[in-house]
Amino acid sequence: MMRHANPEANSHSCRCCHRFPERTIHLGRCTVIGKVLNRLWQVAGVTLPPSPALNLFALGPDGPLASGIIAFHLIVWKFILISFTQVDLAGTRFVPDEVWKGAVRRYISRVERLKVVVRTRVLLAEGRGEQPSLDKENELTAPFGAFRSDGYFRWSEVMWSEIKSLELTRFVAPDPAAAPNASLATGHGRRPPPVSPTHATGLASMRAVFRNIAFEASRRQG
Ligand SMILES: [Zn+2]
Repeated sequence: MMRHANPEANSHSCRCCHRFPERTIHLGRCTVIGKVLNRLWQVAGVTLPPSPALNLFALGPDGPLASGIIAFHLIVWKFILISFTQVDLAGTRFVPDEVWKGAVRRYISRVERLKVVVRTRVLLAEGRGEQPSLDKENELTAPFGAFRSDGYFRWSEVMWSEIKSLELTRFVAPDPAAAPNASLATGHGRRPPPVSPTHATGLASMRAVFRNIAFEASRRQG
């Protein structure tokens, strides 16, 4: 509940900036909350002038932003509101850097879950000799990263450097197929970390299993 409308609140001023009455419209203008959202706009490459509509609803002058940005924006707001309520409930401070870091960590785990789903889909399709379209998945993760046609995910350069600067790389699962052209993900021309041989072998055997399953299924149908 907004402090402005809460008769029990000991102050009516915004619990983030302490400068303005805490109304919903203020949350879209609050410079402290803006520090969190500006990090999102930066990694998303959004250069629109700041406005309450942009900050609150991811709405630009031409309508809603891309669906991948909207999905991340929702996560960011979830973390803003959690931290926001804790100021009154737990007496903590609203620290924009921490809120942003929490949101990025959650976003990484979303992508990690999607990575597993996509890889399984690609392996199953490969077993049938098909190549699935990953357009939908890529729409979900754009512009923060994209799946290659073989199902492996690469973070955008700007997002990957953000993950590195927040020291969150340990939450990104190693990608066994990333080694040949990981320059996008590792950035700055640095050599990618060596691929674990067991991981790569595990993947190859998984591929073989899926191929066998598909073969058996087609034989039973035929
Ligand atoms: Zn404020």
